[in-house]
Amino acid sequence: MTTKHKQVVDPTVTFWGAARTVTGSMHQLDAGGRTMLLDCGLFQGHREESRRRNQEFPFRPKDIDAVLLSHAHIDHSGNLPNLVRQGFAGPVYCTPATRALAAVMLGDAAKIQEEDAAYLNRKRQKGDPKVEPLYDGRDVYRTLHQLEAVPYDTPTAVGKGVELTFVDAGHLLGSAMIGLRLDGPSGERRLTVTGDLGRRGLPILRDPAAVPPADLLISESTYGGQTHEPVDETAERLGRVVRETVARGGKLLIPAFSVGRTQTVVYFLHQLVKAGRLPDIPIYVDSPLAARATEVFRAHPECFNDETLRLLQADPDLFGERRIRYVENVNDSIALNGRSESCVIVAASGMCEAGRILHHLKHNIEDPRNTVLIVGFQAPNTLGRRLVERRPEVRILGRTFALKAEVVVLNGLSSHADHAELLRDLGPLAGTARHVRLVHGEPERAEALAAALRTTGFADVVIPDRGDHVTA
Ligand SMILES: [Zn+2]
Repeated sequence: MTTKHKQVVDPTVTFWGAARTVTGSMHQLDAGGRTMLLDCGLFQGHREESRRRNQEFPFRPKDIDAVLLSHAHIDHSGNLPNLVRQGFAGPVYCTPATRALAAVMLGDAAKIQEEDAAYLNRKRQKGDPKVEPLYDGRDVYRTLHQLEAVPYDTPTAVGKGVELTFVDAGHLLGSAMIGLRLDGPSGERRLTVTGDLGRRGLPILRDPAAVPPADLLISESTYGGQTHEPVDETAERLGRVVRETVARGGKLLIPAFSVGRTQTVVYFLHQLVKAGRLPDIPIYVDSPLAARATEVFRAHPECFNDETLRLLQADPDLFGERRIRYVENVNDSIALNGRSESCVIVAASGMCEAGRILHHLKHNIEDPRNTVLIVGFQAPNTLGRRLVERRPEVRILGRTFALKAEVVVLNGLSSHADHAELLRDLGPLAGTARHVRLVHGEPERAEALAAALRTTGFADVVIPDRGDHVTA
């Protein structure tokens, strides 16, 4: 370890991921003679490029002293086990709920990495080198021992002259903005990293807290220039789609990410049922990961908003355990396709590229009575995107199917702030933040937010490229 020989410089951030894109969040912070990472996410894109980008770090993992983790989503946490595998031995600071969620998410990610490597090895030509998974279950186990929980709003020294405070980001259970006070040769500097910034009015979670004041502000920009449908209208429409589908005797399929989005959908469905506004039909959540994540949600009421706490006091059945059936076993999942009555099936994965949703789509999209409800962003070149575009035919698991089911898109369940919400939350820092760096956004989205911030009094608003750095 070379820490004691490091030159002490004013706090400097170097951008290694989520620069002009939305995945692979990872920034390097040099401050107080220490080197820290702000998030360590998986880059997700084309297979070859992703493998290379995730495999090779642009620094020596054993030179990193600590990681500050904003939340458990894989594009922010998913490369931690690889960092540990390659020699990182320091603490990973995160909130208690993030530590618990990361345990289920990284375990699942390791399984996917191992399956992916096994698949590539089966396709390997004679003489090709064996493909190793990026990391495996043992690396995840070691990583989990390095996670150190720091509750919200609790200033904590994480190095000489480095004080960390997590404040609620309102984006996912346990999600936090990272507020830092950093000593440097030119005096104290404040750095705020929004991580993924949530929205007001989302169910279960509290609204985002005030963005901590900062000399250097690093903000996400996912939905710069865009507007989301209000959350309550979206819940109304969800109810309407269920009723219409049931009225024609169909099934409703909802592809959804297992952690975050699934719990939001389930919460709304359960509330609608309790209010007598949905017919009494079976609701299945077909994802073992979602079942485990929901357990973590239940175990962390310290993250809930007041309304959810009130509901919980009146009725502990917050996620409808008594009514909603969580399908763990593959055979039970397959058996769902043999049932003819109306039902709702929420299944992994979000963009319909893998997971149990594929089997349900295969059996149900040729029947016009059924509905596929899309509740999240669908990247180009995914089956999810082709469904959104309502292509007359789609290929699923190597076969062509006619798309006859209705496809409905609900955009209001996003857990990211939209343009107006970003401006409102960042606004109080205008005039005091001397540098603003926008990350975690496609260039067009980040540019739209940058332009608006400049007109509202922010100076030095820049969208960094990979490898760029800024000194606070
Ligand atoms: Zn996120």
